[in-house]
Amino acid sequence: MQLLKEKVLEEGIVLSEQVLKVDAFLNHQVDPSLMSAIGKEFVSRFSGETITKVLTIESSGIAPALMTAAHLNVPLIYARKQKSLTLKEDIYVKKVYSFTKQVASDLTVAKKFITPDDRVLIIDDFLAHGEAALGLAHIIRQADAELAGIGIVIEKAFQNGGKRLKDAGFRVESLVRIASLENQRVQFAEDYIEREKINYATSV
Ligand code: 5GP
Repeated sequence: MQLLKEKVLEEGIVLSEQVLKVDAFLNHQVDPSLMSAIGKEFVSRFSGETITKVLTIESSGIAPALMTAAHLNVPLIYARKQKSLTLKEDIYVKKVYSFTKQVASDLTVAKKFITPDDRVLIIDDFLAHGEAALGLAHIIRQADAELAGIGIVIEKAFQNGGKRLKDAGFRVESLVRIASLENQRVQFAEDYIEREKINYATSV
């Protein structure tokens, strides 16, 4: 998605070789027309699927997930992140670990919002190690609902989340894939492969 790539290059900040900050358009200040374009793109990628609900995690997944839900005309549910809980009767709970923040939290969704006849699309802002998406998929399974697929705005393809989700049999659609954040530069996966090909061709 060219528009998103340009935004990442112009406004993304490489915090380390592992973490990209996108608080200028996605995680803090939000660009509504970009979010709308992202929503439309997810709708087009999952156009063959029946989807009755969109599921994400608070707070940074909400903007792209809401626009996807709006274009699909279905409800958005965002899982809440809470510290360990005691009362659990009316909620689905899954503990997830965030490598980025180095904390574990309980993802919770009220049982009344996901039922066995739902086909749910997961949307999240980033895919790193896959913990968040696997946690949401687990909640969908607890509800006996079906997972229609997983839409990711920015996949860091050098971390193992994409592989874990595909190994679990899930369909994953990432709008941009980052191959590396080395040397404080964002390198997209397709450009990285192209450059490797050129390097190889010029070296033989
Ligand atoms: P995962 O669960 O796949 O390891 O990580 C995904 C979650 O961690 C996302 O929901 C996102 O909020 C956060 N995250 C992971 N990597 C990054 C990153 O490079 N930048 C930002 N801003 N958030 C990230």
